[in-house]
Amino acid sequence: WAPEQDAAYFHSYAHVGIHEEMIKDRVRTETYRNAIFQHADLIKDKVVVDVGCGTGILSIFCAYAGARKVYAVDASEIAIQAREVVKANGLSDTVIVLVGRIEEVQIDEEVDIIVSEWMGYMLLYESMLSSVIYARDRWLKPGGIILPSHATLYLAPITNVERYAESIDFWRNVYGIDMSAMLPLAKQCSFEEPCVESITAENVMSWPVQVKHIDCSTVTVQELESVTSNFSVPSMMTASLHGFALWFDVIFVGSTSSPSDTHSESSMDSSLSGGLNGNGVLQKSKRAKTLNQIMLSTAPEESPTHWQQTVLYIYDPIEVRQDQQISGSITMSQSRENPRFLNIHLEYKCGGRCYVKETVMR
Ligand code: SAH
Repeated sequence: WAPEQDAAYFHSYAHVGIHEEMIKDRVRTETYRNAIFQHADLIKDKVVVDVGCGTGILSIFCAYAGARKVYAVDASEIAIQAREVVKANGLSDTVIVLVGRIEEVQIDEEVDIIVSEWMGYMLLYESMLSSVIYARDRWLKPGGIILPSHATLYLAPITNVERYAESIDFWRNVYGIDMSAMLPLAKQCSFEEPCVESITAENVMSWPVQVKHIDCSTVTVQELESVTSNFSVPSMMTASLHGFALWFDVIFVGSTSSPSDTHSESSMDSSLSGGLNGNGVLQKSKRAKTLNQIMLSTAPEESPTHWQQTVLYIYDPIEVRQDQQISGSITMSQSRENPRFLNIHLEYKCGGRCYVKETVMR
């Protein structure tokens, strides 16, 4: 990264507000806590590195789970607070706070576990996973575990009449005045960039498409520089297509199991049904495996998180009939201007016409 851009990035994490928001996101923080405590047998007496410790909360959970040593690393000044928090909780012998970039700090031993909360909006924004990969390749013992272990990014076409009406159609009649002349500017200002906002399951027009599945133990930095996925899904409803929503989930699998066992809900369903005996009772091993899959989901039908969903709105809605195919492709690539920004190239096809949307998440 260019140092001055990264200084701004780390400075943004020095403010208490961002940590308050993350910690108050109970879905996020409690899922991490559950995952850490559930894997206490793996963490006990082991060495952990917390990539981007912030206030130190995940490191402290690991210490409570019995870790012998936790390296809590953060390049933001927030790490100085983390050190005080650790001290005030009597954990200074266990949790070693290192202030600096993970790529630059010194850790003189191999570690058994990496824990990190690296996920950005639409998963890949901020590109922080690269730092987890760096830590993995530098310090993680063979067979060591990474929490979370896998991440999946999804996309689905959405309809959102209310949102479109309030930001765009609003200008058609303003106190009786026709302000339609404002429409192009309103579309551009409202919808040029990705919108981080909450939608509901009712907005979603089709089954979600998997854009990218990441196994944190094998993913490479190169693989994340540009991610492309094609999609083709039938609309489940007759509605106006207003855009495409992106969201993600991560799971916390403690053992090194094959990716096909460990990602989408459908594989969870099949492992469930595979584990049912004739009486519909879960066999013990399958049940343990299924319950092991603690998931943090930011899907529209799940409890809301501070990530919400990210919506790429299109300027002009397209009328779609039920069962009509919506197809296209999305490419998300790290921006040259600043690798933490994401360039998004979306092509979509509906009713025989092709459209393109280019945008940047800054
Ligand atoms: N683990 C904390 C904070 C998560 S936010 C929690 O769960 O509440 C991500 C943190 O990672 C930020 O504080 C940011 O400063 C830090 N970070 C991101 N990239 C980093 C890097 N390369 N080296 C060190 N810290 C990093």
